[in-house]
Amino acid sequence: MAQDCKRMLGELSDYIDNELADELCEQLEVHLKDCPNCRIMLDSLTKTVRIYCEDKEERLPEALSQKLRAACEKKWDSKDSKK
Ligand SMILES: [Zn+2]
Repeated sequence: MAQDCKRMLGELSDYIDNELADELCEQLEVHLKDCPNCRIMLDSLTKTVRIYCEDKEERLPEALSQKLRAACEKKWDSKDSKK
């Protein structure tokens, strides 16, 4: 995984929660334009968060977003290693 992607992935859950600083938000959006991998991650994260929130009507707990992030990174790393 590219260093940039790793960094962006770390910001995704804040981005989804609208808690990301404007500057980081912009960086993330610029990166997403050029990076289909990160777009897919954002898409699946957003879906997961939405399903969770509809169900519980509360914010995603930190533990869960960390779990999601770890799962994404794992998936990504295995994709990279297949190349
Ligand atoms: Zn990326």
